[in-house]
Amino acid sequence: MRRFLRQPGGRLASIFAALLFAMSAVMGSYLYSACQKASADYTSLISDIVLAQQATPQLRAALEESSRLPDSEHIQYIDYFISLSKQHLNNIQRSIERHRYLIADVKYLNTHFSELHSRLSDLRQEVQEAQQRPELRDPLQSMAMEIGGAQSWLYNQLLEKVRAISVQQRLVMQRLSIAVSALLVLMVSAATTLCLAVIYLRRQRNTMHQLMLTDELTGLYNRRHLVNVTSATLIQAQRDQAPLSLMLLDIDHFKKINDTYGHPIGDEVLRQISKQLRLLCRPSDTLARIGGEEFCLLMPNTATYDALQVADRLRREIEVNTLTDGVRHASPTISIGVTTCQSGSLTFEQLYSFADKALYQAKAMGRNRVESLLPPNAPSPYNAPLTYTLTIIGEPSDS
Ligand code: GH3
Ligand code: MG
Ligand code: MG
Repeated sequence: MRRFLRQPGGRLASIFAALLFAMSAVMGSYLYSACQKASADYTSLISDIVLAQQATPQLRAALEESSRLPDSEHIQYIDYFISLSKQHLNNIQRSIERHRYLIADVKYLNTHFSELHSRLSDLRQEVQEAQQRPELRDPLQSMAMEIGGAQSWLYNQLLEKVRAISVQQRLVMQRLSIAVSALLVLMVSAATTLCLAVIYLRRQRNTMHQLMLTDELTGLYNRRHLVNVTSATLIQAQRDQAPLSLMLLDIDHFKKINDTYGHPIGDEVLRQISKQLRLLCRPSDTLARIGGEEFCLLMPNTATYDALQVADRLRREIEVNTLTDGVRHASPTISIGVTTCQSGSLTFEQLYSFADKALYQAKAMGRNRVESLLPPNAPSPYNAPLTYTLTIIGEPSDS
């Protein structure tokens, strides 16, 4: 994880993830409260208000009609409508308490509710008094009128508020859908960023791996990779009791090529020779550039004779100059030193040292040739002395 964070792609991804987390938290809490607001159902409150509105003129009508009734029924009749009005007020107040987003908006109506309750109670008392004193019956009409007016005003106010809240609800719903879309876009872009970061990191890791194992100029393996492969191949050779050959290839008078044609041409010669060598090698062999103009070929399961055949084939191919335009005139040749380990009992350094000595010999003997040096006591396929020369095809270059 720490390594991931240290990468530029990893840092970018983690910053983005942190931002996304913060934005999701803010949006989440907004969405929660918005959902609460948007999902509030005011239908029962509205139906309570409408019922109360419809009942408002009934009290006044009851007062007018009651004068025609006998006294005992008169009281009961009006009392019923006063109770009904109080019942409606209570229902509405209970409905309001169930809607916490409405309470604050209609708080200012609380006094009007209490006032209406007490006026209705007063009316009930007045009606009872008027039963004894008929002269008080007329003022009751105007009292009922006032109460009806106050009720209408209160119910209208409430309906107005509920309507305003419904408009707000619609707005909240719109914002909600925008917020959900934004959240979706954020999540998709976060997922995309993370995928891109992972792809970038993978590519970077592959490139680093490639750079660690290969040579930039020629694309061949480098010394590090060769050493690793040779060590593993030696272990296998020891287990199989199989021979293993190693050859060192060095371009002759490369300095002269650089001096004559310039460094860029020298580079191109290196590239083209590398390409040729790679095409000529078996896939099971490992070819590496281990120095400026020095290459090394590891050949598992290859005895001295076969290795010498391969080496001379490579030398001849380079000599006949198959380089393409621009560098053809450089006409490079190569000298090769070969060594063989019979059953994987040597180290890379020992093998390298024998091949290097053979290469030195090839250089000393005129270049553009192959020399071989076997480790002491190694059985030779020819019963030949430790150092021997393969027939040189073509003219050695002058040293
Ligand atoms: P010899 O036949 O004895 O091997 O002679 P040489 O000139 O090939 O060997 P020497 O070691 O004297 O010179 C090697 C030259 O290779 C010197 C150096 O400038 C050149 N060289 C090393 N690496 C590169 C490279 O990457 N590109 C180019 N163009 N030249 C390089
Ligand atoms: Mg050289
Ligand atoms: Mg050299």
